[in-house]
Amino acid sequence: MTGQIQTLSGTHTSHEWFDRAQASLAGGVSSSSRLTSTGPHPYPLYMASGSGTRIRDVDGNEYIDYLISYGSAVLGHAAPELTEALTAVLHTGTMFGTCNTPEVELAELICEMVPCAQLVRFANSGSEAVQGAVRAARGYTGRSKILKFEGHYHGWSDTLAISNRPGEAEAGSYAMPRPVPHSPGIPAGVVDDVLVCPWNDPAALRTLLDAHRGEVAAVICEPIVANNACTMPAPGYLDLLREECTARGIVLIFDEVCTGFRTGPAGAQALFDVVPDLAVFSKALGGGLPIAAFAGQRHVMEPLAQGHVKHGGTYNASPLCATSGLVTLRQLSQPEVTKHIDDSGMRIMEAIRRAAHDHRIPCAVQGVGAMFQIVFTTDGTPTRHYRDLLHTDQARYHAFRHELLKRGIHTNAYGMACWFVAATVTTQELDATCQAVDEAFSTL
Ligand code: PMP
Repeated sequence: MTGQIQTLSGTHTSHEWFDRAQASLAGGVSSSSRLTSTGPHPYPLYMASGSGTRIRDVDGNEYIDYLISYGSAVLGHAAPELTEALTAVLHTGTMFGTCNTPEVELAELICEMVPCAQLVRFANSGSEAVQGAVRAARGYTGRSKILKFEGHYHGWSDTLAISNRPGEAEAGSYAMPRPVPHSPGIPAGVVDDVLVCPWNDPAALRTLLDAHRGEVAAVICEPIVANNACTMPAPGYLDLLREECTARGIVLIFDEVCTGFRTGPAGAQALFDVVPDLAVFSKALGGGLPIAAFAGQRHVMEPLAQGHVKHGGTYNASPLCATSGLVTLRQLSQPEVTKHIDDSGMRIMEAIRRAAHDHRIPCAVQGVGAMFQIVFTTDGTPTRHYRDLLHTDQARYHAFRHELLKRGIHTNAYGMACWFVAATVTTQELDATCQAVDEAFSTL
């Protein structure tokens, strides 16, 4: 492999904007993850416009987009059906802070589509909806501890921004990881209420739950770990979570912020045929506008419905965002739409596997067609949990990603994240992507 990363040519306007941004925006960005979203590339690219699966930066370079706003723009950029519906709302009022009819229709559609959803509440971001689900679980059980899995990401709020990306030394032993706050500013009291467990390890889970009998309100997981390079659940592992939670009176929460409405109309809970008590949605739900939801079985949501458990939000399910959700889910409820997304992604996954084989580079391509990632493991086996990811070849990932970017393929720069596929991707775009993949491998 080259190991050498060159600055992209023809992106000087992005460079100028980043220099300018640092004088007014903290760090030049609006989200800490965008500081690292460039990988080893020294400044972020500033996108100016998008249409379908294509985006254009401020220097006029065009890319086929597999970031697709972290999976949110699932119908593609500036999707005509969304633009038309949202334009109508712009003319009639985007927000009243009152009840509105699109939010009711959207909740009904979610209840139709998602197995666990009997009652829904809306929020504006995945982090907020996770907070809502955790509040509901604690309110319902009267317990305070939450068990999460090392490396899984559930948003930036204090509640669960713990052991997202700990270093091996600070994280302690594999089987009994230490809860590590993701950032200074997260109080110790919050961290004390979080138990951290390795993913895909039944014995470690049972040991932890046994040690905290009667204390655990919820177990939360990403059913496909989008934020750990799409590490998959081991066969039967989600069933085990379901059984253990049922037996112990613990609320099982699936964080479907990435998988929801993308891995099929009913998300990961249908894909794996395991129904959680609560699920959290965002990203594909909004088609690019900020809306999120937590939804669950009636008995768990009932204290919220009764007003005992509180949840608020000025902007929740505004007519603008609820309409965006409604238009998007009406599309994604058609199985042929999610099938196209999945088939398209599988074609790219196969192309990566073929190129890796031809160029004799060990790696695994993991996930499902709708969301997947390549991991350069030493022997080419897929990752089982977060600690495996600490031993993948990140330099090679960055080199691969950068070669793709030079060929007009835009993916997440972060090796622990993943590719997201849009419903608009065309055969021609897939051909171009597969060719770029092969060329990129020949440089590694
Ligand atoms: N859960 C998961 C699985 C996520 O991937 C994310 C965001 N990447 C969140 C929660 C938080 O969502 P948001 O960034 O909208 O707060």
